[in-house]
Amino acid sequence: MARIGVFVCHCGTNIAGTVDCPGVAAAARKMPGVVFASDYKYMCSEPGQKLIQDTIAAEKLDRVVVASCSPRMHEPTVRRTVAAAGVNPYRMEMANLREHCSWVHQDKPVATAKAIELVGMMVAKVSRDEALRAGRAELTKRLLVIGGGIAGIQAALDVANAGYQVTLLERTPTIGGKMAMLDKTFPTLDCSACILTPLMVDVAQHPNITLMTSAEVEEVHGFVGNFEVAIRQKARYVDHSICNGCGTCWGKCPVKDVTSEFDQGMGKRTAIYLPFPQAIPNKPVIDAPHCRSIAYREAQLKQAAEQGLSPEEAGKLKPVGPDGKKLVPCGICEKLCATKAIRFDDTDRVVKERFGAVIVASGYDLFMLDGSHDEALAPQARKPYYGEYGYGRYPDVITALQLERLMNASGPTKGEVVRPSDGKHPKTIAFIACVGSRDEKVGRPYCSKICCMYTAKQAIMLKEHDPSVQTYVFYMDLRAAGRYYDEFTRRAQETFGAQYLRGRVSRVYPQNGHYVVQGYDTLLGRAIEVEADLVVLANGVTSARGSVDLMQTLGISYDGYGFINEAHVKLRPVETNTAGIYLAGCAAGPKDIPDTVAQASAAAVKVAGLFARPFIETEPTISEVNQARCVACHLCEEICPFGAVTFVEVKGGRQVAQINPAVCKGCGLCTAGCRGRAILLHGFADQQVLAQVESLFARPVPLRAARSEPEPLLSK
Ligand code: FAD
Repeated sequence: MARIGVFVCHCGTNIAGTVDCPGVAAAARKMPGVVFASDYKYMCSEPGQKLIQDTIAAEKLDRVVVASCSPRMHEPTVRRTVAAAGVNPYRMEMANLREHCSWVHQDKPVATAKAIELVGMMVAKVSRDEALRAGRAELTKRLLVIGGGIAGIQAALDVANAGYQVTLLERTPTIGGKMAMLDKTFPTLDCSACILTPLMVDVAQHPNITLMTSAEVEEVHGFVGNFEVAIRQKARYVDHSICNGCGTCWGKCPVKDVTSEFDQGMGKRTAIYLPFPQAIPNKPVIDAPHCRSIAYREAQLKQAAEQGLSPEEAGKLKPVGPDGKKLVPCGICEKLCATKAIRFDDTDRVVKERFGAVIVASGYDLFMLDGSHDEALAPQARKPYYGEYGYGRYPDVITALQLERLMNASGPTKGEVVRPSDGKHPKTIAFIACVGSRDEKVGRPYCSKICCMYTAKQAIMLKEHDPSVQTYVFYMDLRAAGRYYDEFTRRAQETFGAQYLRGRVSRVYPQNGHYVVQGYDTLLGRAIEVEADLVVLANGVTSARGSVDLMQTLGISYDGYGFINEAHVKLRPVETNTAGIYLAGCAAGPKDIPDTVAQASAAAVKVAGLFARPFIETEPTISEVNQARCVACHLCEEICPFGAVTFVEVKGGRQVAQINPAVCKGCGLCTAGCRGRAILLHGFADQQVLAQVESLFARPVPLRAARSEPEPLLSK
């Protein structure tokens, strides 16, 4: 006969405010198999856990029910508590009196009656629980970091310094992310490059780090400790293993008018290029669509295919471009390259690698006023936003990141802040805050967290660049929560003379070589106009381009804006809901650099903790096939979202399903779907689930349908 102990937690007033906890314990004492029941203020606290352990010893309990909060919150803790006192951890059940009862009811008698029913169901289940044991799986001690911004760099260095192998994967040709584009950083105004570039060099030189740039994750299979990842290394057309980064190629490239992504469209670059002078790797790549040699070769191949010629014969053709003009091959970089590193025939390659853990640090993108960030919409369905601000129509309406590039000494204007339209120094500069933040109308109701701060920073820096400049900031609310942040925004106003005007801007239009910024000052209660030479839009943070595809490939959950969901916002803020996959930085929502770095180091500690183990412990609450009952219909294989089902041949040449215990997540889809009732989900056998139903309706449910009941073999 089972000896069950029931422990009812008050959770302060979270549960006890709505549920009569002593009353629930008293009712539990009368339930079959229960030899002890008690209530306590905080069962998750040390005295609460000691109460459980002491009672297990005193009452010789072999099963435990803890009636408290969601098992998502404290199940691992309580399992460890009972295991330390000698009870099999899978003979412990939690009745969720908080989320399922006290938080959703107000009437105390009703909530108490429901709480008693919930406890009764768990008592019925625990009395039928099997003693399960965790399994073991191999652990590959290699980390994959996706995204080479400051988050990915910090996480990679921390884990590599702990002695583990790390691959840092970045989809652009250089690491550094947005931080590499910034001039100075709030609130200390350190030079961004001075604090970032030494870390970038450390990454390049670290013996434990393999850097893969121009690369993206294509497929991910497996589970914690054993992820199989297919990585696409995009063609770079330059062999980085022999290139010495001398710079001759990009110095002589005749294509000099390509818009620079790194300079946010404020500058130009060549077709073979280094994104910025401190880029890591400090070696160029060729931008194929702009390279004359690659365009020439592709046109030759196309023409050869049209004429039925072989690729070898294509080399003799003299192709013409879409405009009918003869194309001219270039090849200057190839001729000048001393190390012979140019590869015009380079192609994408897919490599497969095994990792034990992944940190997703894929960062963010900015809200684009042309609507290009709306990836869920087809390109033709995307629409521009905030047309009233004139972005894209007026050359001197720019974004904050474009201003960063103008202020940067290694930027397109060598740090001169000039108007794109006429190259003149602007004397009056108006900032418009919350562009694409806190605005339901554009689908972004959240605060981007960094814009108030970077606007104050830019107002300060503009005054430092040119003391005769006057700045105006149109804002909704000033959000400067953080150490020294409020002082910083006050400094912008009090010491650097920035005029803050509380209210939305309704319109920007050109007039006499300036821009009239029309708005409403809600503090003064009147309409206002500012005549500005330059208008800067503080556009908000959106999830990185392609982030939803990446999350789906990784099998991790994300919110409606494409930011990663934490496993638990407060208690597991750097873990995802998939074991072994962690997060860092703006991939999980807007953050400044200090928070990003703190989160990256936290994720690194989690990975180092995982890699310090000798093997992976696998959950025993997984599915198992009764091969005698399996008719090989393959439905389980089709519906398993984790690819855990394979088919093997058994005696007599019969095919039967087999579940890989290391891959199965215990979701139960196969068990529910199996027509022949051949699959048992340990911990959720029919007699356990039906016992709960019986307890609730106080009448027996016939067990005839139970999957785990012995049945005659099919072969009979
Ligand atoms: P990112 O910098 O966005 O880096 C992410 C990296 O991941 C990128 O290199 C990207 O190419 C890569 N990536 C994305 N998807 C993939 C993929 N699928 N596969 C591989 N790689 C991928 N913060 C401050 O604290 N102080 C400041 O002064 C400051 N000023 C700012 C000024 C402006 C105008 C802006 C816009 C932001 C400012 N910030 C500032 C915020 C700062 O930029 C962020 O906090 C920081 O860059 C976040 O780093 P991250 O690594 O999370 O993201």
